[in-house]
Amino acid sequence: MSSSDSKKTWSTVLDVVRNRVDQDEFDTWLKPLHVLEATDQEYRVGVQNQKVQDYVAEYHQQRLEEVLQFVTSRNIRLVFQVSSGNRELFPLGNDRQDFSEEIRSASPGFSPEYRFETFVEGPSNQMALAAARAVAERPGANYNPLFIYGGTGLGKTHLLQAIGHYVLAQNQAAKLLYVTGEDWLNAYIKAAQKHTLEYFRGQFRDKVDLFLVDDVQFFSGKERSQIEFFHTFNALHGAGKQIVLTSDRMPAEIPLLEERLKSRFQWGLIADIKPPMLETRIAILKNKAMKKGYELPHDVLDYVATNISMNVRELESCLARLELEANIRACPIDLKLAKEALKTIIRSRATNVNPERILAVVASFYRLNVEELSSQRRLKSITTPRHIAMYLCRKLTTMSLQEIGSSFGGRNHSTILSSLQKIERQMKMDSDFAATVHDLERKLMKQ
Ligand code: ADP
Ligand code: MG
Repeated sequence: MSSSDSKKTWSTVLDVVRNRVDQDEFDTWLKPLHVLEATDQEYRVGVQNQKVQDYVAEYHQQRLEEVLQFVTSRNIRLVFQVSSGNRELFPLGNDRQDFSEEIRSASPGFSPEYRFETFVEGPSNQMALAAARAVAERPGANYNPLFIYGGTGLGKTHLLQAIGHYVLAQNQAAKLLYVTGEDWLNAYIKAAQKHTLEYFRGQFRDKVDLFLVDDVQFFSGKERSQIEFFHTFNALHGAGKQIVLTSDRMPAEIPLLEERLKSRFQWGLIADIKPPMLETRIAILKNKAMKKGYELPHDVLDYVATNISMNVRELESCLARLELEANIRACPIDLKLAKEALKTIIRSRATNVNPERILAVVASFYRLNVEELSSQRRLKSITTPRHIAMYLCRKLTTMSLQEIGSSFGGRNHSTILSSLQKIERQMKMDSDFAATVHDLERKLMKQ
């Protein structure tokens, strides 16, 4: 099998899977997977590190393998292998080995696609883009920190990583560290448990020139980590190192965040990203299609861009769905196909399915009240309906796992994920159960 064939196949596999898992989940764990070697019996796929390998093997291997077998019509096995072949996937510049295992495994990796060249400019992101470029050109000299905020799926992570790519391209020896707020926090907790805090702190002081922290809203309510982060911030800032932060809201609006941290976050420049206007949405779609080597007809561009307006990630997943559908039917992408393929996504908006309605419908079906359904109680008679409600939120709305978590009493992203997986498994095994879930879904779509 030629390597370009296997790459193409793998990218189709990822496109299919992309529509079935949460986008953050996909971006973090699955998107960086790449084919190292392929035969008719086996695909050897590279992962960044052991942590990724364990996670993907546990939660995604089966699904990936199924889709791979479906796409190729062959009984192909999937084997993961930690691969250091692609330096770009490693976010720590050239001194990765200097970092502790906690920090190294915390970094989820860069996407090679998140560069300035692939970011479409528009009025909604102009200021954030200009600031990011200025910072990338002269780290530490312009705005420090740069704080980028905006709703989910609007390009914050893309810009943050674009800064990293640019800086590394200018200077191979630049030491940069990209972490999410959550990763940083976990690394900190581990270091505290192992009594290696001194070492943990020391790493930042002289080993980082550019500190990229994604989703700092995660620090909300985590007091001790905030204090630690405050010190890290000060040490780096004091040494003239560039810091860039992103968040889903502006510093002043992050709840349960210490005043002094809020004030630090506001020291430099705060730039927001808003949902893109129609022209920008069309340009983004055009660009993405062009990169994959095809053009979309005008009416399709209009249809998708008009109906999907708040989130670029969703635009992308619509495109992936269109490609897949066109592939399966072996016909070109036209308006008729687009309407059919995107029916569920676009109709769910029109019918205005929201978590409140889902909770109400599921609660009344199981004769529970809505409070019980979103409570922390662990009786099985409540947890199953609760998981169904979560599943329906995921399927019928555009909510992210995190947003679903907050609607269900502040549960975290991985709890929600495992609840969804439980429902999916049970639906596969028990057709009565699946029928019940489908009935509830139809009920919601009708109203
Ligand atoms: P956020 O971090 O704000 O939730 P991401 O940076 O992950 O959003 O962006 C979601 C997806 O949308 C990514 O695949 C990204 O490449 C794409 N994207 C967002 N904004 C743009 C843009 N202006 N041009 C091109 N792609 C974009
Ligand atoms: Mg992000």
